[in-house]
Amino acid sequence: MKSVYLFGQGIAQGNAKKINLLGGKGANLAEMSKLDIPVPPGFTISTDVCNLFLKEKKINQKIKTDINKALLRVEKKIKKQFGDIENPLLLSVRSGAKISMPGMMETVLNIGLTTKTIPALINKTNNEQFVYDSYRRLIMMYADVVMEKAEQKNHINIREKLERILHKQKKISKVKKDSDLSVDHLKSIIEKFKKKIKTSFGEEFPDSCKQQLWGAIHAVFKSWNGKRAVQYRKIENIPHDWGTAVNVQTMVFGNLGKTSATGVAFTRNPSNGKNKLYGEWLENAQGEDVVAGIRTPHPINSDSKTLKTKKSTTLQKSWPKIYSQLLKIKNTLEHHYNDMQDIEFTIESGDLWMLQTRTGKRTGEAAIKIAIDMNKEKLISERQVIDRIVSKNIDEIMHPKVDPDMEKIYSPIEIGLPASPGGACGQIVFSASDAEKWYKKNRKIILIRHETSPEDVQGMHVAEGIVTAKGGMTSHAALVARGWGKACIVGCANLNIDLKKKTVQINNTIYKEGDWFTINSTEGYIYDQKLKLVQSNFTDNNNFKKLMSLTNKYKKLKIRTNADNPQDAKLSKKLGAQGIGLCRTEHMFFDTERIRSVQKMILSEDVESRKRAIMELLPYQERDFYTILNEMSPFPVTIRLLDPPLHEFLPSQKNKDLINSLSNDMKVSSKKIINRIVDLFEINPMLGHRGCRLAISYPEITEMQVTAILSATAKLIKKGIKAKPEIMIPLISSVKEFDHQKNIVKKIALQIESKYNIKIKYKLGTMIELPRACLTADTIAKSADFFSFGTNDLTQTTFGFSRDDIGSFIQNYFDNNILKDDPFKTIDINGVGNLVKIATKKGRSINKKIKIGICGEHGGDPKSVYFFDNIGLDYVSCSPYRVPIARLSAAKNSIRKTM
Ligand code: PEP
Ligand code: MG
Repeated sequence: MKSVYLFGQGIAQGNAKKINLLGGKGANLAEMSKLDIPVPPGFTISTDVCNLFLKEKKINQKIKTDINKALLRVEKKIKKQFGDIENPLLLSVRSGAKISMPGMMETVLNIGLTTKTIPALINKTNNEQFVYDSYRRLIMMYADVVMEKAEQKNHINIREKLERILHKQKKISKVKKDSDLSVDHLKSIIEKFKKKIKTSFGEEFPDSCKQQLWGAIHAVFKSWNGKRAVQYRKIENIPHDWGTAVNVQTMVFGNLGKTSATGVAFTRNPSNGKNKLYGEWLENAQGEDVVAGIRTPHPINSDSKTLKTKKSTTLQKSWPKIYSQLLKIKNTLEHHYNDMQDIEFTIESGDLWMLQTRTGKRTGEAAIKIAIDMNKEKLISERQVIDRIVSKNIDEIMHPKVDPDMEKIYSPIEIGLPASPGGACGQIVFSASDAEKWYKKNRKIILIRHETSPEDVQGMHVAEGIVTAKGGMTSHAALVARGWGKACIVGCANLNIDLKKKTVQINNTIYKEGDWFTINSTEGYIYDQKLKLVQSNFTDNNNFKKLMSLTNKYKKLKIRTNADNPQDAKLSKKLGAQGIGLCRTEHMFFDTERIRSVQKMILSEDVESRKRAIMELLPYQERDFYTILNEMSPFPVTIRLLDPPLHEFLPSQKNKDLINSLSNDMKVSSKKIINRIVDLFEINPMLGHRGCRLAISYPEITEMQVTAILSATAKLIKKGIKAKPEIMIPLISSVKEFDHQKNIVKKIALQIESKYNIKIKYKLGTMIELPRACLTADTIAKSADFFSFGTNDLTQTTFGFSRDDIGSFIQNYFDNNILKDDPFKTIDINGVGNLVKIATKKGRSINKKIKIGICGEHGGDPKSVYFFDNIGLDYVSCSPYRVPIARLSAAKNSIRKTM
């Protein structure tokens, strides 16, 4: 077993393929060495050694010999010797797992400084201050990492004790910066450090370089099982048996005086993707000084300048030769890795050394621009562009978001479910009517509710963002907000709303109407502050457009949208929707005039007055369908007949004014109306009088809606516009329900065709959203032109979880590992998904031409889209703002299948 891999200055025994053995850092150091990039020589001890060490509690003789041999090779290369009293070599020892675990494991720098090597180094560098400063850094790190943490003597808190000594000396010497301490001060600190270590651990700080080296290697291995690292792996799902590699490397110093420096950079701008080196540097400093923020770093070039640093000196200007060397390295690395890199470098006495390279983190906007640009530069293929962009990148560019710099300063007061991504800022109100009032006064508002209902829609519409105490990812608020691309957080269990006082208590603080809140609904964070938002015009972004056109080239699955008004239809077309997969008609009835007719319809006791009431709605509905079919032409529009639970339309018994006015209008007594309301009350409306059940009780609804749909179609056809209606019957559990409604549709179609004297092409299908419908799908398919899976209700009825109440207990299911994903967000493949699969197979076995899609909220969820594509559905339908994500997911899935 090879356990040690050399790298640097012409040698590279490892490579990127050995990442499991060498960890990310080690593999990339080897790759850079291969590319002739200047890397301080060193070696990587493999993760296998780590696992062996953790098992046997020691490093065996064979591996020890290999490490010693590797050290000899490094000494030869660099022409320095470890522990030498003339030309001593100093080493760094760093961890490096396969996946970066920032700050979770240990590092020890400046190893090899002892009372014997110090004079030699002073002699070589002619810089006593630098040598003693390096020595005190070594003592501090070593005591903390090797003597305390690795030995699990965590009660000692040696770092704090030593920091106190350092601080005291700085105070006495009246200096602010560590680098201003004189040699004498440093010497006195070092003496005090050593004494404190002796009294704290009962042993001396080692004055042997070999002892320091082995101590540091052991400590890094042990840090794999440190408390922080174990917790991090649990959260990130990183297997515990991977182990960490150890990188032992020649130290190079950026703090050797005015010809030395250190810096970090991205090979392209990580915020906007611009193809320019972007980074920071500090003269006469060590790497940790750039990150620690003690001194403000300078921009590396003019492209990296900010408002704060616009007058600072750039590396480009001060050291043009080194800068152009860095530019060459940027080029080499990007051509090698075919991706943007995050690099660390040090300049020691005018020589540039690269210490690290890894894939750089970036914003959504940058991710898309970098991928498209790299394709133009022939670095990556179109398929790689699609593979590389993730849905979060698209989410990010579509919605305004809270300024990330602000989020670093403030902490959220509550965290809920991120129902609809984005950011919003406004004054809080607690009812839809107050939202409308405040909006009219030109105020920006955040609407806070226990939960929302269709009556809140106007108030929700005028709000910047919506927060609800209850509800899950498919609650009314989540669905509506996502449809609008409006920021929304649901299921915030700590919200204690007092509607009378118009206050909300969160933990121990009470907030009143008008207080400012900001929400980051991509993460679910709520802030009690007015934070800045940043906007983006994503549809005008050429890179976004190019990415979207690529999705069409590769995807097979069609993407439709859920829309019930012409504005949404127009928007979704712009975003690439190929039709409407679900037009929910109940939203059309909540307008003040229309709801009255619906109430009269429900409350009528005889057919005639019911018909009269329902027919009041016909002109409105015809106009609705005309505008939507017209907007969406030539694409199909699936219109679902009325579905909602009855109680959403019923007036409250306590609303005396409304009941009196209905009684006048309908010419029946108030008492009768109240009795009827009591009769219609349902304990469980979600399983009650809704969907086709409503239309079976009141066939007039179907008659009116079909008349409206087909009359609008006839008028459009006469004008030469291609209108393609698809009539959809909701919530059926048996073919008999479907056929009952089909007869009505056919009867009306004949009437309209003869009235307009044309043949109307329309499709008639059904929602499959109950388990029984799935299991009897073959019989239904005989009668239907299409199926559309309503996976919201199908999930509700398969699990028996109420889609409106799951928010109150789902966290317990996550905590106990019972559920991994919210089944209302990501399709439950084994249960609900299996029903979809069975129904599709049964349906197609009887009716080969049947068109099958899904229109539940899962249509916009990437993992669910992969599943629906894999089982061969024809389309998915989702909210307009999710269309781009669904397109990307479908394209990604097509590509993966061919990879
Ligand atoms: C569904 O149940 O999945 C569906 C799309 O219908 P709704 O959400 O309107 O019940
Ligand atoms: Mg449904």
